[in-house]
Amino acid sequence: MTMATIAVIGSGVAGLTAAAYLQENGHSVTVFEQYPELGGVTATLKQDGFSWDLGPMLLEGFGRGEPAGLILEELGIQEKLQLQREERGLVFPDFSIWPQREYRGPYWRRDYLKRVFPSDSGGLDRYYRFYDRMMDLMALHWRSEQTGGLRSFLLRARTWRAFQKVREMSEWSAAQLMDHFFQGPELKALYTSILADFVVRPSQFSALAVPAINVETPFDKRMPLQVSKAGPRPSYHYVRGGCEKLVALLADKIRSCGGAIYTNTPVNRIAVQDGRVKGIIHNDHEFKRADTVVASGGVREVMFDLVGKEHLPAEFISRVNDVPLMESVHMIHLGVEYDIGRYQPGGLCYYYQTYDIEDAVNRCQQGIYHEGRDGFLVYVPSLHSPEMAPEGLHAVTVYTIAPNHLDKGDWASRGEELSDTLLREVEKYLPGLRKRVKTTVIMTPDEFKKRTHLKHHAFGGRAPVMGKSGGPHRTPIDGLWFIGSQSEKIGGGVSGTMAASRRVVQMILKKR
Ligand SMILES: Cc1cc2nc3c(=O)[nH]c(=O)nc-3n(C[C@H](O)[C@H](O)[C@H](O)COP(=O)(O)OP(=O)(O)OC[C@H]3O[C@@H](n4cnc5c(N)ncnc54)[C@H](O)[C@@H]3O)c2cc1C
Repeated sequence: MTMATIAVIGSGVAGLTAAAYLQENGHSVTVFEQYPELGGVTATLKQDGFSWDLGPMLLEGFGRGEPAGLILEELGIQEKLQLQREERGLVFPDFSIWPQREYRGPYWRRDYLKRVFPSDSGGLDRYYRFYDRMMDLMALHWRSEQTGGLRSFLLRARTWRAFQKVREMSEWSAAQLMDHFFQGPELKALYTSILADFVVRPSQFSALAVPAINVETPFDKRMPLQVSKAGPRPSYHYVRGGCEKLVALLADKIRSCGGAIYTNTPVNRIAVQDGRVKGIIHNDHEFKRADTVVASGGVREVMFDLVGKEHLPAEFISRVNDVPLMESVHMIHLGVEYDIGRYQPGGLCYYYQTYDIEDAVNRCQQGIYHEGRDGFLVYVPSLHSPEMAPEGLHAVTVYTIAPNHLDKGDWASRGEELSDTLLREVEKYLPGLRKRVKTTVIMTPDEFKKRTHLKHHAFGGRAPVMGKSGGPHRTPIDGLWFIGSQSEKIGGGVSGTMAASRRVVQMILKKR
């Protein structure tokens, strides 16, 4: 294998993961990041002695043998990252779900909900049977991918058999699934509520993916991961000290293998000749030759602005245009002198103030901002990592999903006013919070756009809409690969993004 010169665009987890693998495999890799700091939305913000994560909080799939855990292990950095298994709470207008003092087994949420909603008791039993099937199916599929030969064949056969039991639901939407199992709006909202984050309506989301967005283990850290012979269920962890620790370890890995990383270096153009990449142009005029370019960021920004439609076939252009994107977030980071534990039992809680998820998402898709009235989340990183706030104080993050463009006014002129409105909603649960604030950082969709170099900031990238996909990893330009949250990755969040980068590197290495 000859050594290739590879340019990686973007220093989020997608770019850093790809760069670390490629450099370790003996190629000459340079990472280009437009922002002054590394990490994209995995960065950690700092102000007045407080630190807050800009994006990810509770990470799925970082345990041993899980998709991101496997990557950390392969790159030799697993031992250096301090992870803490954790849980989250849910608050709805008429009920809330928090781990109880006494642990009552892996199905305590089902049993609790049966007591609260007795008329949906039968539906809950049937839903949890479906949930177990889907979890087993996912575990078998993952295990079949990790092995080869006869073992993989046998696992694939078991996966196929498990799929037959849910096959009839494969064309259903999440909304249909909810109608199938439940009568009341409360449980229908409970199992589709996280779709509000994705800005995907329950009627647009696949029924079979509902269990994957409602894994039980993050609701009680005492739940065992292994509850069936099919394989373990996903684990959820915080990164102690903030996600910047993960970013720093990946960046160290790249540098220690001889790779280079440049910040403040926007890539303005991907040079293409005769259908093949020749390199990149950065900082408006500087050319850097590259045999391979691995680009993260916005799928339309990369394909249309950096490459140019003139180099792309019409079919590919329409595929890129068809990628559904999530909306952005309105986020407020606070440094507070406030006894959070008095009002919120755990470090992370999602507060929902509506049961009509379909309507809430529909309004957001139309640019109508709910200003916190539909819901928000409150995250307190200093509870798991006390060093993220001065002694006796707390770092608190409040955020909610918000459209890139407001239907009335704009974020530049309304950011402060809307932040105050959002905090007033938060005070319904955390009374008097605003008076105990020592420092504030407001991140509107405008700030997220600058941070990520996107024209349309999309919270988690590609929206998981049934029948649609993200930007293809393999592009019509020879030597150009697309990765990151807007790509066709399977699975979302940090681990899904990292796993996709690993897969793309395998494709690149195979081709060379
Ligand atoms: C508020 C929020 C909360 C989240 N919560 C969770 C969670 O709890 N759990 C979870 O698993 N996931 C969560 N996610 C999603 C997860 O963080 C992302 O999917 C993932 O980190 C995306 O990584 P990425 O590398 O694709 O993108 P990014 O992190 O956006 O990185 C892309 C980088 O590329 C750079 N770039 C783009 N274009 C160019 C260019 N032309 N030249 C140079 N540089 C360029 C950008 O500046 C940026 O640094 C959250 C995301 C957000 C925003």
